[in-house]
Amino acid sequence: MQSEIRLKSKPRLEDYEPIVSKSCIEELRALARKLSGKVVQIINSTFIGGGVSEILGHMVPLFNQLGVDARWDVIRGDETFFEVTKKFHNALHGEKEKISPQDFALFREVTKQHLEELSFYGDIFFIQDPQPVGLVAKKKEVGRNWVWRCHIDISKPDKRVWNFIRQFVLDYDAAVFSAPNFAQRLPVRQFMITPSIDPLSDKNREIDQNTVDSVLTKYGLTSNKPMVVQISRFDRLKDPLGVLEAFEIVKKAVDCQLVLAGGTAADDPESEEVLEEVRRRANGNRDIHVLLVPPESDLEINALQRAATVIIQKSLKEGFGLTISEALWKGKPVVASAVGGIPLQVKNALTGLLCYSVEGAAYHLKRLLTNPEYASWLGQNGKEHVRQNFLVTNQIKDLLLMFLAIGLPGKSSDVVHL
Ligand code: UDP
Repeated sequence: MQSEIRLKSKPRLEDYEPIVSKSCIEELRALARKLSGKVVQIINSTFIGGGVSEILGHMVPLFNQLGVDARWDVIRGDETFFEVTKKFHNALHGEKEKISPQDFALFREVTKQHLEELSFYGDIFFIQDPQPVGLVAKKKEVGRNWVWRCHIDISKPDKRVWNFIRQFVLDYDAAVFSAPNFAQRLPVRQFMITPSIDPLSDKNREIDQNTVDSVLTKYGLTSNKPMVVQISRFDRLKDPLGVLEAFEIVKKAVDCQLVLAGGTAADDPESEEVLEEVRRRANGNRDIHVLLVPPESDLEINALQRAATVIIQKSLKEGFGLTISEALWKGKPVVASAVGGIPLQVKNALTGLLCYSVEGAAYHLKRLLTNPEYASWLGQNGKEHVRQNFLVTNQIKDLLLMFLAIGLPGKSSDVVHL
């Protein structure tokens, strides 16, 4: 399935110059010229929901403006396939999951269908996450360069699932991880590239107070009390129940409200159940707002993040955690668990506060809610940290360098930090 309709209308490259400097954009153009004539075929499992589609939706049009012929396809899957891949996802994060031989067989069977259905036209195949990892079987026939991009922290995976996925990964020319501590030892060249946010997207661009207020009204919210906000898919690994517990503790000391806002992802069949559970637990508390946000509500998410007094991200496991950079870019103070890619973004007591428990989260929330100057200082530091490290222009540069490097000779033991 091709993606044209999902590619958002995009700001021009020049629009990024005031944010990241003119020379940075010129550097991207120079690198992109070296890839001229090559097609980069990107394949993942959903156009909507979650961080991967968020990144691709903004990055692909920018690649195209740079003259890089990047195209985005998704694999099809029914609920049974995505139930299996969700279990794999959780297991690769180190969670306990019951996975049967039939689950592995189903993954292989559906991969075979994908191999027949999809057309493989890229010069470089950039395959995202475990769901389409098996497409590399096509390499025997089409050759070319194959890169597997893993967005998950697989440092402590369920061994059985990792060994299964690993057999496919071994056929790739390179693997990309978000950070060294996410990775596994592999006899394949590895690149370390952090994900990024787009400062000019509807999700992150500056918006005025009227727009923020109208979104609050739309969701029945008022800013009459300090607002703690978590934006996340309704997923157990995002620990919405832990957020509720922390909020109950905070509420005893500070009169505030909580917003848990999120959607469901097309490749995540568990989310409805988690949403129901969160609603049940929150029931009756008028200061807790559980919002089901439809897909493509970027401006609404932007407004909710801007309306927040403090942003919380109490994940139990995390990939990179884009919501953190999104919050910091808006100058917001953040309380977040020290998992996955969060510590790359939240440098404790410099760009936010890290927590390790419900009680820790509650303690930090109270601290920030009652100390606005400190909160604002952390938020401003956080914004500069994102500007230096986690904007889409940084990621595009790293990917261009990586695409160029995989065409060059290299050793399978190479690990490159970009
Ligand atoms: N998001 C969204 N709507 C929602 C929930 C999340 O647009 O209802 C966005 C969020 O703003 C972020 C991405 O989805 O851009 C989630 O990425 P992250 O890396 O935080 O987590 P993932 O969902 O990939 O585990």
